[in-house]
Amino acid sequence: MKLRFATVWLAGCSGCHMSFLDLDEWLIELAERVDVVFSPVASDIKTYPEDVDVCLVEGGVANADNLELILQVRARTRLLVSFGDCAITANVPGMRNRLEGAEPVLRRGYLELADGSGQLPHAPGLVPELLERVLPLHELVPVDHYLPGCPPSAARIRAFLEPLLRGEPPLMEGAAMIRFG
Ligand code: SF4
Repeated sequence: MKLRFATVWLAGCSGCHMSFLDLDEWLIELAERVDVVFSPVASDIKTYPEDVDVCLVEGGVANADNLELILQVRARTRLLVSFGDCAITANVPGMRNRLEGAEPVLRRGYLELADGSGQLPHAPGLVPELLERVLPLHELVPVDHYLPGCPPSAARIRAFLEPLLRGEPPLMEGAAMIRFG
């Protein structure tokens, strides 16, 4: 039976997913071995499904929607992979943590830097509330594997996934596999 495979995009630039697409023809091989049941690059399914075997999660957790989704992903996924530096350390989206809270970030972006009359976004139920800090995944949920890189190269993603899909732990050794950035 094929593994049920997913990818999720939280607070990241989508560069990790672009690198995933750089797997090029190996994606065809991957598609023969897994069922892609949820992914922003493969379908428009909105609800994260049950019984997912492997999920690559890009990005930190920056807002209420990210938080709800990562909790759902954890509850419904056997192997959760922290995919890229933003998921592992908060990295680029986490730069706003230096401003100490969501309010100064919103003020800076929507009032101080506004060309005309600025306005803070307020649309409960439509615009998700920012969390006070952007968090890496492991601060909120248990993570099974870490795949660093900004983004991880396609070669690194493939070297990580090949053993994982055979049911073996990926060999995370050496600069080619564990260097950040
Ligand atoms: S780790 Fe780098 S490439 Fe991946 S989402 Fe973050 S900033 Fe983008």
